[in-house]
Amino acid sequence: MAQKRRKYRKQRSLKALLFRLIIGIICILTAGTGAWSYSLSGKLLPTRELLTGDASIHFIDVGQGDATLIMTGTNSVLIDTGTNASADSLVTYLETYVGQIDYLILTHPHDDHTGGADEVLDAIPVRNVITPDIPGNDYYRVLEELSDTYDFNLIPAEPGNRYEAGEIYCTILGPVHLDHSNLNDVSIVTKVDIGSVSLLCSGDAEQIAEQDVLANTDPALLDCDIYQVGHHGSSTSTSMEFFYAISPDICVISCGNGNSYGHPHSTVVSLIELSGSDLYRTDLEGTIVLDIKEETTVRRIW
Ligand SMILES: [Zn+2]
Repeated sequence: MAQKRRKYRKQRSLKALLFRLIIGIICILTAGTGAWSYSLSGKLLPTRELLTGDASIHFIDVGQGDATLIMTGTNSVLIDTGTNASADSLVTYLETYVGQIDYLILTHPHDDHTGGADEVLDAIPVRNVITPDIPGNDYYRVLEELSDTYDFNLIPAEPGNRYEAGEIYCTILGPVHLDHSNLNDVSIVTKVDIGSVSLLCSGDAEQIAEQDVLANTDPALLDCDIYQVGHHGSSTSTSMEFFYAISPDICVISCGNGNSYGHPHSTVVSLIELSGSDLYRTDLEGTIVLDIKEETTVRRIW
């Protein structure tokens, strides 16, 4: 039995060696074209050619933060820019896939969401930036100055407004109120529609801001296929009422491996698992890429 196990282990290690050799050869052959790159976790990223669907959603591994890219052939929307520490790897990732960004949505001025914004603006042409104009906070004024330097339209987030980038439609559902003292609660809540597939991103909005959205939104608008779990899976967000209003088939949690907040919290993970929704996590799997084909099929390719 032990001999059989040793033989099996040997076969597995030979297979692993062969796999690493093949990947190594592909990397050497394509190194000159820059076709391959790595995510923050060291995971090899898919080439643009692998994205065979009509659109794709990329939950980019930026450690403890959010950066979510939605793209079709020529149009793209980026929601948040990760931390300042992950800015270089985010820019490398974005440059692999997009030549410009139609809308950059900065949910709220915390480093884990806007820390890479300067570097993204510096590296990639951005046409429009949407962010909340929060009373008593100067982040909107900073972006006003940057809009001259980088030539983008600055748009204050207002619920009900809708923005179009080719086949990508973004509807702003929150923040409904800008007078919350906790900056998390003025996070932009966005519904993204691509064909008949929909995604909800709520930044770090906590349960009080979720209640604002529930009270202010047509329930049909909240129903989404994919949910980027609020506040990195913290128990301060994703109330049962909010979650069941979304009733997603797929949930993605963006958070850093071994982060000091203990994200995602077990109550949120249990809620998702009990619902039967698929759960993917960037802390465990690195960047997650969903490919969308013929407007209805969502396939995880990475
Ligand atoms: Zn955050």
